[in-house]
Amino acid sequence: MKLLVVEDEVQLADALSEILKRNMYSVDTAYNGIDGLDNALTGVYDCIILDIMLPGMNGLEVLSNLRAEKINTPVLLLTARSEVEDKINGLDCGADDYLTKPFVTGELLARVRAMTRRKGEILDDGKMDFNGLQLNKNTCALSWQGSDVKLSLKEYQIMELLIANPKQILPKERIIEKIWGYESDVEYNNIEVYISFLRKKLTSISAPVQIKTARGIGYSLE
Ligand code: CA
Repeated sequence: MKLLVVEDEVQLADALSEILKRNMYSVDTAYNGIDGLDNALTGVYDCIILDIMLPGMNGLEVLSNLRAEKINTPVLLLTARSEVEDKINGLDCGADDYLTKPFVTGELLARVRAMTRRKGEILDDGKMDFNGLQLNKNTCALSWQGSDVKLSLKEYQIMELLIANPKQILPKERIIEKIWGYESDVEYNNIEVYISFLRKKLTSISAPVQIKTARGIGYSLE
């Protein structure tokens, strides 16, 4: 899953991004409201963690602009202020939840899980299921009827994307956007390599699930 952190306190932003990455998310970071809005408008994120007090454009303006453009990505507002008005304004502007600074990371992770779970992608126990094929977020393993195989981070992220969009063709561009980000110079060949690793791993646990190639377009899980 792909998250965006918009926070101008560089140390906090980088620490958050580090923690989220360790929890298997791919993360982009913006240090001001304008860059934050630019990123958020792409609509590729599964959740946005948005500070309110930001240079350039404050978090509430970013949020209003985003909702005006019909981007409905779940937004978790961070606020240093505990005033009730800020929270009300935030929720009125279309925030889904808020967290008052300082917060403990466990709580942030729980909120992010809850917000992304609304899309029905991850079950309560951290597992995703596709016709009995299970992807376990906690162990980074793929399992079929008691057989397990460990995945690398990129393999995990690709499989997560495929299971979240079952039986749909996922274009290669979308996989790159979601997992490597816009500015990356990942080649389509790189994805093919990861897909071939995943196919071998599916075979190794005898899972009757296939990653099909839609020639020239992308992949689908069948
Ligand atoms: Ca701030």
